Formats: sequence, structure tokens, C-alpha cells
Amino acid sequence: MNNEPIISLKGIGEKTAGLFARIGVETVEDLLHNYPRAYDEYTPPVSAGEVKEGAVAAVIGRLTQTASVKRIPGGEVVTLQLRDTAGVLQLVWFHMPYLRQTLQVGRIFVFRGKVVKKNQRLTMEQPEVFTQEEYGKRMHSLQPVYSQTKGLGNRTIVRAVAQALAARQMEREYMPDDLRRKYELAEYNYAVEHIHFPADRQELLFARKRLVFDEFFFFLLAVRSLKERRGEGDSSFVMKRGPQVERLCRTLPFCLTKAQERVLGEVLGDLESGRVMNRLIQGDVGSGKTILAVFALLEAVDNGYQGALMAPTEVLAKQHFETVSRLFETCGIVCSVVLVTGSMTAKKKREAYRQIESHEADLIIGTHALIQEKVRYDRLALVITDEQHRFGVGQREALGVKGAGSTHGKDGEAAGGMPHVLVMSATPIPRTLAIILYGDLDISMIDEVPANRLPVRNCVVDTGYRENAYRFIAREVAAGHQAYVICPMVEESEMIEAENVLDYTRRLRRELPSSVRVESLHGRMKGKEKNAVMERFASGEIQVLVSTTVVEVGVNVPNATVMMIENAERFGLAQLHQLRGRVGRGRAQSYCIMVDGSGEDGVRERLDILNRSNDGFFIASEDLKLRGPGDIFGVRQSGELEFRLADVFTDADLLKIVSGEVNLLLQQDPMLDAPGHQELKRRMERYQAEHSERMNL
Ligand code: ADP
Ligand code: MG
Repeated sequence: MNNEPIISLKGIGEKTAGLFARIGVETVEDLLHNYPRAYDEYTPPVSAGEVKEGAVAAVIGRLTQTASVKRIPGGEVVTLQLRDTAGVLQLVWFHMPYLRQTLQVGRIFVFRGKVVKKNQRLTMEQPEVFTQEEYGKRMHSLQPVYSQTKGLGNRTIVRAVAQALAARQMEREYMPDDLRRKYELAEYNYAVEHIHFPADRQELLFARKRLVFDEFFFFLLAVRSLKERRGEGDSSFVMKRGPQVERLCRTLPFCLTKAQERVLGEVLGDLESGRVMNRLIQGDVGSGKTILAVFALLEAVDNGYQGALMAPTEVLAKQHFETVSRLFETCGIVCSVVLVTGSMTAKKKREAYRQIESHEADLIIGTHALIQEKVRYDRLALVITDEQHRFGVGQREALGVKGAGSTHGKDGEAAGGMPHVLVMSATPIPRTLAIILYGDLDISMIDEVPANRLPVRNCVVDTGYRENAYRFIAREVAAGHQAYVICPMVEESEMIEAENVLDYTRRLRRELPSSVRVESLHGRMKGKEKNAVMERFASGEIQVLVSTTVVEVGVNVPNATVMMIENAERFGLAQLHQLRGRVGRGRAQSYCIMVDGSGEDGVRERLDILNRSNDGFFIASEDLKLRGPGDIFGVRQSGELEFRLADVFTDADLLKIVSGEVNLLLQQDPMLDAPGHQELKRRMERYQAEHSERMNL
């Protein structure tokens, strides 16, 4: 029932359904779980002199003049001035001449809308009009704001969600009673309804808590019951230090940092220990994780095994392939490396598979194409995934299992043997949370970056600084460098006031000299298109890349020296830190320009934390302190761990609670076979399935 296509809802036809598909909503169920990305709050009204440019505001005032109506081509414009002792606000409506009857001198109204500057005057265009009483009723209520796409505005989505809620099949409660009572969790159906339409903040928080609880619950349940099945214990791939590892040590063009040395010791120690390695390396952007991966892979090769390195995107996989090949050449390492990505031609793929199966290839680098059926390994002893959080749990698992079947014993039967697993992540998660989220892994921290780097210079500016910034970018480009410009949105949206990639690209093409090549990159583009753009940027053919946060992961273009971030106030500091980590990778001085588009107090203070530190762990925890754990309306802290609502920083306390409860549950009923746990089990399995589907993204 809830899995019916949304076209079954009243008022949704082919065309609208097609638009919904663009934001990933196809069924009623999808719609119910397409949660608002923000809430618009009806705040107490202020007087005309108090409004600020750029913000949505409600102003209250007694009318001292009648509205004037002017004819323009295609309609009429109603204008009115609202004044108090401190200032004047211009109000403008198009095509609403009848308003003149309503707006009578002497009456008091509340007007609500976005304040912009038009001809040097503060102006509200098309504000909503309320009597004082009407507004009073709405005050403090929260209107959902959804992610939108061209042609699909917020109002349409709100209506569709309301329809879906009315038509939905109610779900039976599956969370055990004692848990609901102990943690004061809302009933499930109630939570789904009120996350969309809460009467006030309290109701919203109540609904949200339940849904966040569920997200953590099924995630941890899924991970931990998978873990039960993973072979732990003795390894069939016991390694010894070999000649190529020694050679790389001697010939490496730089000295490892102390932290790298320590972690390398832990990793090689695992490989030589006789036990299966399951290790996470956490290290800030630029801390030098890749070289550690290379060492570990070489150790496998030295011992006659294969090693695989899997990256979340083709761009990153290719980049690793090139880095590794170049490094081996400089250091005189003999090792055959092969690249496998989804967009390779069938012929090339076949050739790669052949080399892998025949063990002509020692080292395999690629995307999730590495775990496709057709790839057969020969003694795959080590699997490394880079930027682990981008993968579903199942994906990590699948590659592990693949390794298990790859080793052929004397009689042609699998000699068994889970490969060693190493995952690398730059997500700055405090150790306590990492242990919960990656509880099945030992954790190594690289808590130091190479000393030879010039620190990135940061500044926080307001939108008035843009012209300077463009001139600065033009100068850097003229000097042979490149720049990123980040916008929070892909395209223009009716409700959300933020810069978008498509319009911004057009604007920059106008603003910058015509010789400068400006292109866009965003998540709605097809994989191939994204790769092509990224490659052209990496090769220097594109000089300015206007992008959403898709560039945030792992990409290394050392020639880029400017990172300009529009609407910086909308990002979590941890995310800003990741973005900043895209520059400062080469020899030249790099710059990070954060544009505060809000003009609100406190934003600058928050962003200033980034000026004070380059340490991702420190930054994330300071941000949390400053905002307080109750702040769920603003920014997501970690864009990386893919929960819909939950945020591992903001909801850290709940995460700890859920972790304890999941452990308890699995202790009491490891297979979830008890009569009361059937539905939990079904949902947990669905969660696992959905995650492994993500493998084929
Ligand atoms: P990340 O940890 O973000 O994946 P990378 O592995 O991409 O970082 O390393 C970033 C850059 O730093 C690379 O160009 C790499 O060669 C270089 N690098 C790594 N370790 C050191 C070191 N100890 N000294 C100097 N440069 C290093
Ligand atoms: Mg990396």
C-alpha cells in the first residue's frame, strides 16, 4: 500500500510524479520519509525599522497611508510604505489589485516575507498579509521546507505530503514497549506525521527523537548482526616484511610523520600477527593516509598475494591509480597495478579481469566495480577502502566475502581465509563515537599533518566582498592556479535563500575574464559527466569549478589555491573543514574565503573557529559546544554518515544510548527470533538489503 507510486495520490499526475522522481521520491513511502530539510518559523513580528536585508521577517505596523496601484504591462502593482521612527519599509505586490480594499488607513497588519534591497530601499516583495489575530494564531508554528527542484516548489511538496499522510497505511508499532517507555519515544506513525507538520518545536523534537532513535537502531543492528557472520580470528594470510616495503621506506621522497610511523607499525603488525586485520585509520584531510595504504598493499604483494584499494568515486580511484603508479616508478618498485572502474569499456574491463584472475595484476585499484560478480581474484589478502563512510555496510562486507572465496586450495576447493580489511576515513569523529559506529574495527588515529605545509589563509566576509574575491580569483588563475567555488544548492529554489551552482556558474562566466574556463559540478549530474568535469579540472583545462559539496571527498588537485564557499553559514564546521582541505595541498600559498550570506550575529563567531584551528577533531567539538546539542534546525554536522535525520555529533548522546540497547537486545536474542522481535528482524533485513543496493549507485 505505502509502496504504491505517488501517482496514486489525488492531485499528482504524470508530470508532477516525474519531477518527484528527480528528488528521489517515487512511492508514497518515499514521500513519507522525504523529511523537511528545514522549518520556517513564524517569529514574533518586529517594526519596520528593525528589519534587516536578506532575512525573512514579519513586520507589524499601523497603516498611515493608502496603498497606491500602478498599471504596468501585464498587470498591476500595489505598493505601500510602512514607516516607524527608525525606518521605512517598502511593500510591493504584483497582480493583486484587490489588496487595496483590505489595506485601509488606520488598520494594523502583519506582513511576512523576504527583505531585499531595491533601488537602495528595503523592500518586501509579495509578502503574506495577516491581521494581528491571524498572525498570533500562527506564531511559533513551523512550516516544513523541503528540498526542491525546478518546477517542483515547496507548496506542491507540502500538499503531496499531506495527501500521503492521509492516504497512508498505518504501520504496526515494532519498537519494544519497554524501550519506548524508558526513552519516552513517540509512537511511530505519530512521529512520521509530526516530523512533517509539527505544531511547535516541542512536537518536532519529540517526533524527531523517535525517528533518529530508529535510524541509529537499525543501522547498529544491521552492522552488528553482520559482524556476527564475519570470520574473525586466525588469518590464512600471515605476512613477513619483504624487499619492496623496505625499498619504499628507503626511497620515499619524504619522511613519514611520527603519527604515520606509528599507524604504519600498527597496520604491518596486524598483517604479520596471524590474526585477521579489521582496522580503521582515521586521519584528517591531508594527513597522508594514502601512503600508508600503499605500504600495506606492497606488503601483501611482497608475500605473493593480491591487494585491492577501493575508492567511493571514479575520480578518486583514477587519482589513486595515477599516484601509485607514479610513486612506484620514482621509487623503482616492481609491482603491476590495474585500474577497474564502471565506465571503462567492456573490452578494457575484460582485460583487467583476466589480469586479476591470472595474478598478472598484483594490485587492483577501483570503484565498487571491484566487487562485481565477474571479478575473480587470486589470493586476495588485503582489501582497503578509502573514505569508508561513503559506502554502505554491505559493501564492505561484500568485498570481504569475495576475498574469502578467492583462494583455491590444492583440491580446487576454497582454502578459506577472510582477507585483511583496512578502511580509511577523514570524518573527524571523536574516538568514543568511532568505537560505536565502527565497533567491529580496531582504530588507528593519524593526529598530525606533515609539517612542510603552508597553512591555508582563511577569511570570513560578507556578500559585499564578492567583487574583491572575483578579482582575487582572476589573479590566482592568471598566475597559473585554480579555484573552487562552493554553493549549497544545485539550482534556484523558491523557499531557500542560498546560492546555487547553475546560476552562479553563469554569473562567474560574466564576472571573470572570458579566457577563464568556469564549469559546474553537482550531484545531479551523471557519473560520467562528473568524472569528465573532474578530470578536466585536475588536468588544468578548467580553472574555476563551481560545485556543490560533491568535491568534499578526498579529491587532490594540488594546483588549486582558492576555496570560496558561498553561504558558509549553512555548512557544519566539520564540513567546511573538509572543503578547506581541498586546497593547501601544493607548494603555493592557498586561501579559503567563506562568504557569510546571513548577516546574522553569531555566525562569524562560529566560522571563526576555523581560523583558530586546522584540527578537524577540535573544530567539530567546538562547533558542537557553541551550538549546543539541542540545535537541530541549522546545519548538519557531518554530511558524511548517511542518515536521513540523525547526526552523529548532534545526536551523540542518543547514539550512545541506542548502542547500549542494541547490544543488550542482541545478547538476549542474537537471531531476533523471539515472538516480539519478528518485525524488528524484518526491518533490519530490509535495512541491510537497502544498503547493499546502494552498492550499485
Ligand atoms: P589524505 O589523508 O587526505 O588522504 P593524502 O594521502 O592524499 O592525504 O596526502 C596528501 C598529500 O600529502 C599527498 O600529496 C602526499 O604525497 C603528501 N604526503 C603524505 N605524507 C607526507 C609526509 N609525511 N610528508 C610530506 N608530504 C606527505
Ligand atoms: Mg585521501
